[in-house]
Amino acid sequence: MLRRLRARGAADPVTHVERVPARAGVPAPWPTWAPAELRAAFAQRGVVAPWQHQAEAANLAYEGEHVVVATGTASGKSLAYQLPALATLLADPRATVLYLAPTKALAADQLRAVAALELEGVRPACYDGDTPRTEREWIRRHSRFVLTNPDMLHHGILPGHAQWSGFLRRLAYVVIDECHTYRGVFGSHVAHVLRRLRRQCARFGATPVFVLASATSGDPATAAGRLTGLPVTAVTEDASPRGGVTFALWEPPLLPPDSSAPSAVPAQATGGHDAETDLIQVRRSALRETADLLADTVAEGVRTLAFVRSRKGAEVVAASARRALDDAVPGLGDRVAAYRGGYLREERRELERALLHGDLLGLASTNALELGVDLVGLDAVLICGYPGTRASLWQQAGRAGRSGQEALAVLVARDDPLDTYLVHHPEAIFGAPVEATVLDPANPYVLAPQLACAAVEAPLTPADLVLFGDGAKEAVDELVAAGALRQRPTGWYWRHRERPEVDLRGEGGAPIAVVESSTGRLLGTVDGGSSHFLLHPGAVYLHQGVSYVVDDLDLADGCALVHVEEPDWSTHARDVTDLSVVSVRSYVDAGPVGMFLGEVDVTSQVVSYQRRRIATGEVIDTRPLDLPTRELRTVAVWFTLSPQSLALAGVKSADVPGALHAAEHAAIGLLPLMATCDRWDIGGLSTAVHPDTEAPTVFVYDGHPGGAGFAERAYGTASAWLRATRDAIAECGCETGCPSCVQSPKCGNGNNPLSKPDAIRVLDVVLANLPE
Ligand SMILES: [Zn+2]
Ligand SMILES: [Zn+2]
Repeated sequence: MLRRLRARGAADPVTHVERVPARAGVPAPWPTWAPAELRAAFAQRGVVAPWQHQAEAANLAYEGEHVVVATGTASGKSLAYQLPALATLLADPRATVLYLAPTKALAADQLRAVAALELEGVRPACYDGDTPRTEREWIRRHSRFVLTNPDMLHHGILPGHAQWSGFLRRLAYVVIDECHTYRGVFGSHVAHVLRRLRRQCARFGATPVFVLASATSGDPATAAGRLTGLPVTAVTEDASPRGGVTFALWEPPLLPPDSSAPSAVPAQATGGHDAETDLIQVRRSALRETADLLADTVAEGVRTLAFVRSRKGAEVVAASARRALDDAVPGLGDRVAAYRGGYLREERRELERALLHGDLLGLASTNALELGVDLVGLDAVLICGYPGTRASLWQQAGRAGRSGQEALAVLVARDDPLDTYLVHHPEAIFGAPVEATVLDPANPYVLAPQLACAAVEAPLTPADLVLFGDGAKEAVDELVAAGALRQRPTGWYWRHRERPEVDLRGEGGAPIAVVESSTGRLLGTVDGGSSHFLLHPGAVYLHQGVSYVVDDLDLADGCALVHVEEPDWSTHARDVTDLSVVSVRSYVDAGPVGMFLGEVDVTSQVVSYQRRRIATGEVIDTRPLDLPTRELRTVAVWFTLSPQSLALAGVKSADVPGALHAAEHAAIGLLPLMATCDRWDIGGLSTAVHPDTEAPTVFVYDGHPGGAGFAERAYGTASAWLRATRDAIAECGCETGCPSCVQSPKCGNGNNPLSKPDAIRVLDVVLANLPE
């Protein structure tokens, strides 16, 4: 199959082929403590015996150890927690279990799975924002397996702990599913919500065992430990069976520089590309390439799933493949569909059924499929653009492969520094562990509001400060100074009548409500920090697969008015940034080079936005915006170089700004290789002389108040990170810089100045001096 696909063009687009061998499953006996009734219920559902990793995790949890099971897609992580949790519920008629999922849909799926076992007296129930008031009391009193999400725990269950005391007192297990999704600022909030849960349980005399399930991730024990604040044992050896997969890395060819033919579509829909000028060299778009591959596999009768980053992109891929197939065999195009988010469960099931039975041969989907849709065992998976993490990449590729059959997975690189780096560095995909999930519970912007929430639930004691970890004492002192807490001999008390308003997903000021003007309907909220980028007047705003255009952003009222519209363009806001150093936390003095981690104040202003055609990436126009500046205190990593070392390396002083700027863009583009962030979580600034460092400097900062752990991670892995950055630039086939190496889609200066060869020299100087 792969041979026929790659033989189409003149140049071979395949940069690497990796054979992922088939694996036979390793079954284990049922644990002796699992009651016959439970085994029989699982056997009814087709589970004859657990796999080794399921049994191992279940045994640890049953013995009272906190455990995280981090294995691949469809490896049966649910059984690992269902087994000990349900066995305990059957053995102890009073015990209870709390299950947390990141989405309501996943909780609903789990509810169906547990309910289908029809176990006496378990009475599983979902308790979330959709649960009718009339059912809530019954659930609190009678359900012994409650499925909910962190937001409900934070807003509903913990503030109402008195009503939940019966349930919490008997809590035996807390299950945290898909725990790798709790990362960054959101993850840091959830970490403290879990500490608040542990505190309430302890007040009622319960010490539940935590069982976590994660996609394959780097160092899951540490991440789970940071999330829960407890020592956690990891089970990572996947013992489920798997078909063999041929995994190809695919780089679309460069187009001729003068190409302006309408068929030569230079860019792609999701804004991964800054089509500022028509002088730059560009590659054939990943969307076009994926659409062609999809048409080719479907024409051969191969059941194929294509993952595309945006919904619009998925539709472009499906439509283009349909056209190509209909041209070849009229009617064949009907065998291809696009999967949009927001489908009802029945519609999802119907699509799954059609694809598994072969009525449908090709499906182009957004990542919406990643959580919640049970679709595995396909013949081919096409991944249009690196999905941001190796963990997601493996989750998507893991949908390919039936036992006994060889399947195909193809990663099609987009015009982006990280994608380009990866298709030329297969060892970064196949040889490296997947990235660690990064969160920072010590972020004072998370810690202080969470301590305020905790103080409302019960006065804080010195022992609680240990529970909430580093920085808790300082945060409490600040809350006292601000008049929010009062210290008494028995602890710190919340002083106000109202509870503090804390949004787990929000940061940087009050969230902005997105309101449909014609109906007054509240569509959702966007955190204050992102609102200028996402909700400026004229912005195209996507919500659950529906496209809206913003009419007005009223910052004083905290709302944005939108109307339904699906224009042919996407919008891309640009900002200008100023930065000053507040303090240095840590640094490395490496002769002419300095590497620093510290606090910075960032002032930024969104000044304009571009409109780009979705199908081609072509820039339609740039429109000015009139928005106020915003201040952000956050954590940054930065490096300085002496002017002499740059001169010695051959960088002319006139080229220093372009060299640093190019290095900054590429470094931001490559940071996701080290941490689970994407380039929109981080910002940068470079300058030939910065007033605070008095030297040529490149800053990379967390885009979240107080930092989310990304800059810290960058500092901790500085030499590996900058080595990858240097290689990505040096190995890009372009001459003067392109979106695959040093151009950035969110540059406030229109990608000017940029010097690709001098950026390599800058990074060589840093790497030559920096200790490994
Ligand atoms: Zn390039
Ligand atoms: Zn820039």
